[in-house]
Amino acid sequence: MERVLVSSCLLGRPVRYDGAGKAVSDDLFARWRAEGRLVPFCPEVSGGLSVPRPPAEIVPLSPGARADGDAVLDGSARVLTDAGTDVTDAFLRGARLALSCARRAGARVALLKEGSPSCGSRRVYDGTFTGRAVPGDGVTAALLTREGLHVFPETELDAAAAFLSRLEASAAP
Ligand code: SF4
Repeated sequence: MERVLVSSCLLGRPVRYDGAGKAVSDDLFARWRAEGRLVPFCPEVSGGLSVPRPPAEIVPLSPGARADGDAVLDGSARVLTDAGTDVTDAFLRGARLALSCARRAGARVALLKEGSPSCGSRRVYDGTFTGRAVPGDGVTAALLTREGLHVFPETELDAAAAFLSRLEASAAP
């Protein structure tokens, strides 16, 4: 059985910056959970940040430059709280720990919370704290992708399921 690294908040765990969870209510997700397929992980908490914590966004080092997880990994963007505190190191630590967790579990697929500066995989907020989203991934999603994992947002459960089926079919004797 292919295991899936999953954002802890999607299982309802109260680990988000505002102290809440973000449980997914979906039969397929519930089945994966019952099968023991899901490997929950919160990069921000594991990286050393508290619950609750100030909201954070990815901010480019130079105006107009890319502001996503890849840019953070490349050193051309930082993660700042809304008060301007630099939390980049915690985000990077959390991303590395998420990768270690995935490898220990043998997970080749991750299902991560969309929009988060750690877990977002299709869009992140643009660093202005005005609620504007831009295409791009979060720091953990970017690292996992670079390391060969297939990352899906929780909004693409069907695509994740189809991909898992292909992986399992190709592994069948
Ligand atoms: S870092 Fe990821 S797992 Fe943790 S609360 Fe944010 S979206 Fe959820």
